[in-house]
Amino acid sequence: MLRKSRLFAPGPTPSLPAAQAAMASFTAHHRTADFKALFQQVLADMKEFIGTKNDVLVLACSGTGVMEASVSNLTSPGDNVLVLTAGKFGERWTGLAKAFGCHVEELNVPYGETFSLDDIRARMNSFTRAVFVQATESSTGARHDIEGIAKIVRAQGDETLLVVDAITGLGTTHLDVDGWGVDVIIGGSQKALMMPPGLAYCAVSERAWKSMEKTSSPRYYFDLRKERKSAAKGETAYTPATSLFAALGAALGFIRGMGKGNLTAGREELVNNAELCAEMTRAGAKALGLKLYASAPAAALTAICAPEGIDSGKIVKEFRESFDAVVANGQGEMKGKLFRIAHIGYYDYLDTVGILGALEHVLAKVTERSVEYGAGVRAAQQVYARTRSGKQQLVGA
Ligand SMILES: *Cc1c(COP(=O)(O)O)cnc(C)c1O
Repeated sequence: MLRKSRLFAPGPTPSLPAAQAAMASFTAHHRTADFKALFQQVLADMKEFIGTKNDVLVLACSGTGVMEASVSNLTSPGDNVLVLTAGKFGERWTGLAKAFGCHVEELNVPYGETFSLDDIRARMNSFTRAVFVQATESSTGARHDIEGIAKIVRAQGDETLLVVDAITGLGTTHLDVDGWGVDVIIGGSQKALMMPPGLAYCAVSERAWKSMEKTSSPRYYFDLRKERKSAAKGETAYTPATSLFAALGAALGFIRGMGKGNLTAGREELVNNAELCAEMTRAGAKALGLKLYASAPAAALTAICAPEGIDSGKIVKEFRESFDAVVANGQGEMKGKLFRIAHIGYYDYLDTVGILGALEHVLAKVTERSVEYGAGVRAAQQVYARTRSGKQQLVGA
């Protein structure tokens, strides 16, 4: 059969055709009125996309670049920081903070789980300069309670900052950045913004800007103060990734369209879309007798345990070979144990039922057991039907 190549990994996610077209045709030099207009529009729209009044910066790097910038700008060597880690991306915070000489305290919970707020409270003290966490841990599919964590951090006062890697959280999760008092929230272009990798962004609170004046870790390209000064003049400090800005402008336009001209409403729609695709996927997986890996599953992605005795690598390979669908294996120690299906950004109903239909064939092939065709798809359809109308029932359900 003909196979269309499709991405179901938690980044890079499928690109919006309008974003690709905008990229391909963009030729303006970055020190021109045309680029300046685009740049200023994108920065203003990004505030709405994130849902913040704080200054937003967009840098040319992958998400980890801005994670690093948050460490280098907000800490000094020897500072005490608390890393909340429950997976591979949490471990990245530890690696970064150690690389900049921080004294790292870790609150570690097993893969697939999330933190107890009491445990976090117990690990905080007046010397904690910053707390680093993920909104959604993409390696396990877990959702962390950013609202609850923010309450604890804010109770410490203005000397303790909360830095959230929401690289897969933004656009898939309802987050009240300013209301909760998140100091730095970080995102990346290749996730919910439906465009290729290459840009990462953050919103930075006044509290965090102030604290940056006192820190002494080395930084140059990633000196956020310099970037902020340039942005206030409608410029970037160095050569921006101009064509990616054009793609970002188009993606934000698409999201505004989802909200019928209102970008905030469009972002809410996008989050609700991810929530619904995720709920459909969870129902489909369970109906096929599969277990979910995360105890508090995120809408960004669904991590599904491989059936007993089956290496999840076989499932990932079969998705690719039969359907040219890129589904992610587990990372690190989770490799072989689970597979991950994303719902970040440009996914819809047909993608969701399609991947579940394919999953039924993949399971039949790798387990060599009979699968009740339609069971996963039907469960997903029931979720969809229930959400669309209070009482609508599927014929034959
Ligand atoms: C994708 C992702 C990142 C960023 O990774 P890069 O490869 O640097 O873009 C960081 N954190 C989470 C939770 C992610 O999903």
